Amino acid sequence: MHTGKPAIRFSCVQGCSDCCIYRDYYPTKEFGKIGVLLLPEEKARMENLARQKGISVRILPRLAIGDKPEKIIAYQMMGIEDGDWCPFLDTEKESPHGGHSCSIYEERPLACAAYPVIDAGKVATLDPHCQFCKKHSQTARLDGLQGELEALSKIQSKVRSENKRVWRYATATGQDAVFPEGWVLDA
Ligand code: SF4
Ligand code: SF4
Repeated sequence: MHTGKPAIRFSCVQGCSDCCIYRDYYPTKEFGKIGVLLLPEEKARMENLARQKGISVRILPRLAIGDKPEKIIAYQMMGIEDGDWCPFLDTEKESPHGGHSCSIYEERPLACAAYPVIDAGKVATLDPHCQFCKKHSQTARLDGLQGELEALSKIQSKVRSENKRVWRYATATGQDAVFPEGWVLDA
């Protein structure tokens, strides 16, 4: 990506764990906070990892397609503490950049491996919430984000659907959620 400025290679901000802690309301506050996106084939693996570690995880549906919400195409692993902290975040251990450590780093979901890339178009879009991207998003080098781009492409190829009726699961998590927990027709 040519920006006219010296490129800076992506690396996590020292001490930051924001993407494992803060959860958005998506697409709007009415739906409640979202969890970490899981593809259907990742759900059982996350449940097994939680069992092995003796922690409990709450995994809800996220998106479904069909005239009714017949086929679930994505799940979400909910956070703890009002929906924020990922249950796999180990607050006792430090990550290599001084943040909290992911206790399943080598087996983390694809969505975590893709972050902070949120759109892998011709030019990759980086999440403006990411602490590194707030400072450097225009100068992040794509060759420092190949793993993230590959993970996001895998997610997009699985979740993309020609089906016009997409259902979103309202999580009813967080203070501003309005919809009760359950399916809402998205469009
Ligand atoms: S928010 Fe960005 S800088 Fe902070 S831990 Fe996540 S990816 Fe790294
Ligand atoms: S699974 Fe690991 S990388 Fe993903 S949000 Fe949880 S702690 Fe962070």
